[in-house]
Amino acid sequence: MSTSQQADVILVGGGLANSLIALRLRALRSEVEVLLLERDERIGGRHTWSFHADDLAPDEHAWVAPLVAHSWPRQEVRFPAYSRRLESAYFSITSESLRAVVEKAVGRGVRTGVSVTGLDVTGVALVDGTRIAAGAVVDGRGDPGRGHLELGFQKFLGRTVALEAPHGLEGPVLMDATVPQTDGFRFLYTLPFGERRLLVEDTRYSDTPGLDRDAVRGAIGAYASSQGWRVASVEGEEEGSLPIVLGGDIEAFWDAGPPGVVRSGMRAALFHPTTGYSLPEAVRLADAIAASADLRGPALYALTRDRSREAWRRGRFFRLLNRMLYRAAKPEERYRVLQHFYRLPEPLVGRFYAGRPTWGDKLRVLSGRPPVPVGRALRALLAPRTRPDPAVARPKEDLK
Ligand SMILES: Cc1cc2nc3c(=O)[nH]c(=O)nc-3n(C[C@H](O)[C@H](O)[C@H](O)COP(=O)(O)OP(=O)(O)OC[C@H]3O[C@@H](n4cnc5c(N)ncnc54)[C@H](O)[C@@H]3O)c2cc1C
Repeated sequence: MSTSQQADVILVGGGLANSLIALRLRALRSEVEVLLLERDERIGGRHTWSFHADDLAPDEHAWVAPLVAHSWPRQEVRFPAYSRRLESAYFSITSESLRAVVEKAVGRGVRTGVSVTGLDVTGVALVDGTRIAAGAVVDGRGDPGRGHLELGFQKFLGRTVALEAPHGLEGPVLMDATVPQTDGFRFLYTLPFGERRLLVEDTRYSDTPGLDRDAVRGAIGAYASSQGWRVASVEGEEEGSLPIVLGGDIEAFWDAGPPGVVRSGMRAALFHPTTGYSLPEAVRLADAIAASADLRGPALYALTRDRSREAWRRGRFFRLLNRMLYRAAKPEERYRVLQHFYRLPEPLVGRFYAGRPTWGDKLRVLSGRPPVPVGRALRALLAPRTRPDPAVARPKEDLK
């Protein structure tokens, strides 16, 4: 790969989505010259990206397998009313495992410490004034913004800790909601990376994106103590504030971006509306792009916008549930919605996270004794779906 000032495909942002696209193009279309441009000194940021077994099809699992750093055969959830073990596998990719595979495969096509200041259908401009021409430019700069999406937030801070003694966990605890419910639906998410090594994340389904980091660090320490874990050292930290979509206008969202520029990942609104997780969609987009006969900008723009539109259509049910979660339930009562959900059969839970619930699943999720007051639930379900306001996460007119 030369360092020429042009490429067939320029991927702007070396995050999850564009890294997977680069990897897939390298594997299936080695004749295509790809440039992956990342602003930071390393691609992949500081993340642990996890997914459920049902999130990916067998062929997708197969090509993602080299990226997986940790996997477990089962998982667990804990609520005030009950705990439950789910017999389905869970997988995690880390920034380090992604970086190692992508850098090896893509080689000099990866350029870090390169901030893109302008992009259009014909190429990109860098902070030092360099212009690089391209057949297609893919905007994978992450954060989708709030302009045309009405959002709640799943915000979290996680610490990877080394313990003085084995933690004794059999597998991940995806939700421990037996903790005090502050700042919305709050739970601890724990991944055992080794006998004495854990990622412990304090997560809140909140109306606002900000976190008091020191307070959350203290809360993680208190949780570790409550579990009998003595922390020997903190090895790392990651944090996020993921969009939980209540409504919005997907066409206006796309129209507001650079005209004709292809988008990937969060920038393309390709994430699960209720979890903010984007890995499964990113895997499928990478496959779709690598399979496209035409890799020029207009064809890839049509492909990504169509997929985003289709994902938005499929997300309608989830946005409705999100409105129920954020509007019908008082913040400290939100856990009841998830407590209700996790009593449902395991295959249904799997299809829900995979974003592919059947009509029967949808009926079951909404049936039974409602976990929130009926009147408030109905008002939340019937409230206008599209009132995005960049400044306000929860429009006042919907709270009447
Ligand atoms: C800490 C954390 C944990 C998460 N865990 C999960 C999970 O377990 N499972 C899951 O499915 N999802 C998870 N998500 C949600 C989502 O999958 C991630 O946010 C994912 O990284 C989004 O991928 P992306 O490629 O769209 O954006 P990012 O991965 O955020 O990548 C965007 C990249 O663009 C770069 N960039 C920005 N501007 C410029 C510029 N001007 N020039 C050059 N580069 C630029 C950034 O530095 C960054 O590297 C998590 C998110 C976070 C923050």
